[in-house]
Amino acid sequence: MAKVALFRFYEELNDFLPNKKKKTLFPYPFEGNPAIKDAIEAIGVPHTEVDLILVNENSESFNYRLKNNDHVSVYPVFESFDISEISRLRNEPLRNPKFILDVHLGKLARYLRMAGFDTLYENHYSDSEIAAISIKEKRIILTRDVGILKFREIKHGYWIRSQNPVEQFGEVVRRFDLSGFFKPFHRCINCNGLIRKTTKKSVLNVLQPKTKEFYHEFYQCESCGKVYWKGSHFGKMQSFIDKFKVTSE
Ligand SMILES: [Zn+2]
Repeated sequence: MAKVALFRFYEELNDFLPNKKKKTLFPYPFEGNPAIKDAIEAIGVPHTEVDLILVNENSESFNYRLKNNDHVSVYPVFESFDISEISRLRNEPLRNPKFILDVHLGKLARYLRMAGFDTLYENHYSDSEIAAISIKEKRIILTRDVGILKFREIKHGYWIRSQNPVEQFGEVVRRFDLSGFFKPFHRCINCNGLIRKTTKKSVLNVLQPKTKEFYHEFYQCESCGKVYWKGSHFGKMQSFIDKFKVTSE
């Protein structure tokens, strides 16, 4: 016999729902005793977006088995609302956030590296490679593809809403509360390697005449050897990042 549970999704979880299910209580018909995680994903919301599930007003885990007439409230990751009294679905947030991005997010990868965050991105990664690296290296997946976030073992992921790279950067900064952790001039924008200060003498042969003349402080990527200096692009980079510090506080 078909059973029915009532679901309601809160805040940005509604982004995954069709209009008639947004911000309202709706019936979900099911058979047997599915795990609530599977029901939530069948409705369209990746489990990585969910931080709290209340079933008949009790906080439950992803393994909870759905029952007939259950009344389910599903909440996203809370940013400023303290729910430490009730059990969240996952452990502490990652303190030193590291990312892996899907193949559509090359520009966002450069912005995150510019702000100093450890960010893996290759335009040939497959979904299963991204999932495997995320699990092995405890990296947060950032993706435009909801499908990746439904891999069972993935704990940390975020579905990027905007298609505009600058807005995408803002989304990530807000979602993971990054504005206090910017470290510009720390990572190579091209390869994610660490940047170290170096001597002018050691990079002299790769510098353009004007750069040689006007700049005296140089940095170099440990991995790919790219040379950086605090020229006009540095000023632009700094003001780009500063903008997000202000708006996200
Ligand atoms: Zn590099």
